[in-house]
Amino acid sequence: MARYRGAVCRQCRREGLKLFLKGDRCYSDKCSFARRAYPPGQHGQARVRKVSDYAIQLREKQKVRRIYGMLEGQFELYFDHAERRKGVTGENLLMALEGRLDNTVYRLGFAASRNQARQLVRHNHILVNGRKVNVPSFQTKVGDQISIREKSRKCEAITDSLEAVARRGVPSWLELDQANFKGTVKAQPVREEITMPIQEQLIVELYSK
Ligand code: SF4
Repeated sequence: MARYRGAVCRQCRREGLKLFLKGDRCYSDKCSFARRAYPPGQHGQARVRKVSDYAIQLREKQKVRRIYGMLEGQFELYFDHAERRKGVTGENLLMALEGRLDNTVYRLGFAASRNQARQLVRHNHILVNGRKVNVPSFQTKVGDQISIREKSRKCEAITDSLEAVARRGVPSWLELDQANFKGTVKAQPVREEITMPIQEQLIVELYSK
């Protein structure tokens, strides 16, 4: 499955915001954004010019796409589905992204970042309702039980992430049973619990052009 393979921290610097793409490093002094909070490249420190509405909308879309580690085509598909569903398109989009299996694994604290969560899923460490699922885009639903495969419970990446879970907290729509390496989807994801500063209506405006 295709994914972005370039420099990760560059994406935070481009968006002018910490996107927390690298797990523990993001909370340390080594964070590139903390050291160089300006866009990457030769003209990164040049004077800021007036930004058009289109550029603002585009940046918002890129930011969300990068937070969830998606490529352009996949992201457009999510938008199409969100538009066809009842309700507010922007919110539908974010809720579908939150419900992805890789995001759920990350939000439960089994992984330090969404990238790592995606790798855990791809490498068969994750079970959904007791069955192996290795598709990061798998859409979880209310009542699903997400657990770590018995053999993988000693995996350092997972135990380290679980130790740090208190720092991030688990959203109210999920329930974590840390001792048993298990989590349950209690409800639909909640917009208010996405703490990153996202203005989804700008993405809707961008795609409506
Ligand atoms: Fe972004 Fe994390 Fe890199 Fe900092 S360390 S720039 S938050 S990915």
